[in-house]
Order: sequence, then structure tokens, then C-alpha cells
Amino acid sequence: MLVVQKYGGTSVGTLERIEEVAKRVSKAKASGNDVIVVVSAMSGETNKLVSYAEHFSKTPQSREMDMLLSSGERVTSSLLAIALSAMGFPAVAMSGRQAGIKTDKFHTKARIESIDRLCIEKELNGGNIVIVAGFQGVTELGEVSTLGRGGSDLSAVAIAGALDADLCEIYTDVDGVYTTDPRIEPKAKKLDKISYDEMLELASLGAKVLQTRSVEMAKKLNVNLVTRSSFNDNEGTMITKEENIMEQPVVSGVALDKNQARVTLRKVVDKPGIAAIIFRKLADENINVDMIIQNVGHDGTTNLGFTVPQNELERTRAAMEEINASQTVEYDSDVVKVSIVGVGMKSHSGVACTAFDTLSKEGINLEMISTSEIKVSMVIAAKYGELAVRALHDAYELDK
Ligand code: ADP
Ligand code: ASP
Ligand code: MG
Repeated sequence: MLVVQKYGGTSVGTLERIEEVAKRVSKAKASGNDVIVVVSAMSGETNKLVSYAEHFSKTPQSREMDMLLSSGERVTSSLLAIALSAMGFPAVAMSGRQAGIKTDKFHTKARIESIDRLCIEKELNGGNIVIVAGFQGVTELGEVSTLGRGGSDLSAVAIAGALDADLCEIYTDVDGVYTTDPRIEPKAKKLDKISYDEMLELASLGAKVLQTRSVEMAKKLNVNLVTRSSFNDNEGTMITKEENIMEQPVVSGVALDKNQARVTLRKVVDKPGIAAIIFRKLADENINVDMIIQNVGHDGTTNLGFTVPQNELERTRAAMEEINASQTVEYDSDVVKVSIVGVGMKSHSGVACTAFDTLSKEGINLEMISTSEIKVSMVIAAKYGELAVRALHDAYELDK
């Protein structure tokens, strides 16, 4: 078998942990598998590097950020290779470039365009365990790029897809995917299986146990994906096709996204084309706009609200100042988005009402709402975020 194993920040957070990971990897190799390992930076390392950059500038150049941030993963990949070799298991560490991972040119959130499978295969054929530094690639111009926060998951899935691996295991600090973040709701239950689509929603709505784009890629390339803990041998959660899951609950999970900020443009001129100008500008700046709300206009003006990731708020502010589309713009980063997800919602009515009822009973005001076939999202004041998660988890009886 060809197995890809990815280890997240906490899993390689100390030298002792790297040693533990080396043992686990060596077991997979010793039982006859070809093994590719993808590693994150040691936990806290990427944040530390970001804070170093922000010491000098609130809007550091994204090219330089990639040079900086990609270094964390190179440290762990080489340490793990050294640890494995010392245990008698030949291993080579590779940067994204050396592993043949080509991306587009959008620094700090580059997309993988191709992977030259020969780069890794050559080393596997030589009998080596291959350790790839996650979260990074190289642009057409040969510049180092990174894949967005949490991007080592994507590296692992993309490599598993490109090399037709039999299995891609994402090792982290929880046993698998739970009905909600077990750090917020200790009564959360581990799911044995979850569909790609539900996982995609949960991830994009804040459940960072898997990075959104890694799930997208796994679905597209049909990668056998499992998340499990690197701290024990418990069975993890399989992320799989919907038809492989017998019974679909109406709601399968609750997610909380704290990386949210709301922007409100007041007294925008109410004429055709104005929304296009605003959102074109944001798209050009590669800013991810999420919910959008426009009020019914009067006096020839209207109010327009939308949300963006909190870490893109400064760039949003700069963009709004440039186009100057309204008299006043308000920025509020004291909000979070809480969501319920479930494919069973497609065939049930009244699911959203239960969510609204539940939050109103807790005295929580809904500032924005958006729904799709399989999710309901609500923007609320940040201080109620965790309370809302627990209340919704109870309301849909997810602990049962
Ligand atoms: P890694 O460093 O291994 O990539 P992350 O911190 O990115 O790990 O993701 C794991 C964390 O995701 C867990 O510690 C947990 O707090 C959080 N999490 C959020 N939602 C969920 C969920 N539904 N199921 C499991 N973990 C979740
Ligand atoms: N080290 C990067 C981050 O913290 C990538 C990853 O851990 O997946 O976002
Ligand atoms: Mg992660």
C-alpha cells in the first residue's frame, strides 16, 4: 500500500512528539507500506512568525510572508527525517518545491496547479520514507508560495491524489470529526463517517479539524481520507461519499467561525451597478466575501452589509477607502458565525426555526442569516459564540 500520513502542529509540537511520530511512521513502513509523510510546523510556530512580521507592518508583502511562513514546515520535515534515519529508517525531507508542487501566484493562499509525481516517486523507489514540508509550493516564477492557514491538510490530500495513494491519514490532536468542537462542547460525539459534502460545509464554516480546500480536493480526486489522533490508537472518522453512509441525521454538526468581521456601508447610492463595483473591487483584491445583506432602499440610498475573514479586514478597509462608495463604512470584528450542517435538512422542514428559537431563548440576537440546502448560518455577537454552539448542540440532540 501507498500511505500518506499528515501530522499537524500539536502532533509535532515538541522533540518528544516528533520522536513519537517517527515511531508511528516507522511502524507503517515496517509493515510493508510505502510511506509519504506531510508535516505542519511545530504548534504555535506559524502564529509566532506572523506576529514577528506584524511587529514591522500591519500589511506585510505577501511574497515575503510566504518566505517567512514556509520555514516552519521545513524545520519539522528535516527533524523528522533525521529522527527516522537515526532509528534506522532511511528518510528524506523535501520542501514543496523539491516535491514538485506547483501553485498559482497568489501568495499566502496559493492554489495547487499540479504535482510532478516523479519527484516523490524517485525517492520512494530508492526505499526512502519521504517527508514533505506541508503548506507550501512554488509558483511558475520559482517563488515560494503557501496554501493558506491549515494548508498542510491540502498538501497531504493533493499528494495522495497525485500519487494514487491507497489511504490519506490526517493525524491531529482529536480522535476524529465530532458533532462540534469538543473543546467547546465536551458532550460532542465522534462521527464514524461523514460525507464529503457535510465535511466541506463544516470545514468552511469554521470546524478547522480539516482545511476546507483539502476536503474539496479529496472529494474531487476521490481520496480515501481518515482523520484520527496521533496521541492514541482509537479509530478515527472516515470522510467518504454520501452513498456509503446508511442513515443521515437531519443535523450532523454545529460549527463556530471566529474569524469573521462585518462591514456595513451606509447610504450607498441605490443605482444599478453599485454592488458590482464594490464586490468587483473585493474580488480583485482576492478577499473572500461571505454573507451579503442589502436593505430595501429609500431616499435613493441603501445600506449594504457583508462579512469577510477577520484577517482580511485591513485589506478590506483599504479597498473600501479606494472606491469610496458610501458616506460611512462601519467595521465590526466583534462577531462570530455559528452554523448547523446536515444533508438531512434537504428533506425536512422547520430545521432553521429550531435554531432561531434556540438562540432567541438564550437572548441572542441574530445579526445576519444565510441558508443553503444543507446549512443554516447566523452571525451573532462574539461573546455568545460558545453558548450558541452548546445550545444548538442540545437543541438538535447531537449528544444522543
Ligand atoms: P492540526 O494542528 O493537527 O492541523 P487543528 O488545530 O488545525 O489541528 O485542528 C484540530 C482542532 O480542530 C481540534 O483540536 C478541535 O479543537 C478543532 N475542531 C473544531 N471543530 C471540530 C470538530 N467538529 N471535530 C473535531 N475537532 C474540531
Ligand atoms: N503551519 C500552517 C498553519 O499554522 C499550516 C498548517 O499547520 O497546516 O496554518
Ligand atoms: Mg489544521
